[in-house]
Amino acid sequence: MASELTFIMVKPDGVQRGLTGEIISRFERRGFKLVNLKMVHASKEHIEKHYEDLAGKPFYPGLVKYMSSGPVVAMCWAGKDVVKQGRILLGATNPLASSPGTIRGDYAIDVGRNICHGSDAVESAKKELELWFGQEAAGIQYERAIDQWVYEN
Ligand code: UDP
Ligand code: MG
Repeated sequence: MASELTFIMVKPDGVQRGLTGEIISRFERRGFKLVNLKMVHASKEHIEKHYEDLAGKPFYPGLVKYMSSGPVVAMCWAGKDVVKQGRILLGATNPLASSPGTIRGDYAIDVGRNICHGSDAVESAKKELELWFGQEAAGIQYERAIDQWVYEN
């Protein structure tokens, strides 16, 4: 079975709005496997590192302030094609362009308050998991009895 990993995060607005459970549920119900989770109130420096590729963008200072303004829920999810599928579950970056049925399309309006993050590629997932989980980047190893009902083989 494929064991691709992705980094998914409930942003401070998602936590404040009580949407953590809803976001987790959507990944669980799809069949993906939660292999790590923690609540963190990240420092400005940590967020700057997470979003280093966006440094220089006009929205970057506001983004760093928003993302370090309160606790986030950092997660590692595992499963077949989970990086790409995770982005589909989240919806488009701008919630106004996100389809209903996606997390952002159902629960958010402004791009600067889009409630969740998901890695955009397998390589960035690896980097982000290392940044947020360090030595536990690979997550917790455990068997799930339901996997025979989620995967054909
Ligand atoms: N963002 C913003 N204004 C923009 C573009 C992005 O505030 O015009 C924020 C938004 O919260 C987004 C984050 O910056 O989720 C990271 O941007 P990216 O392009 O990586 O989007 P994502 O991967 O989160 O969909
Ligand atoms: Mg991104």
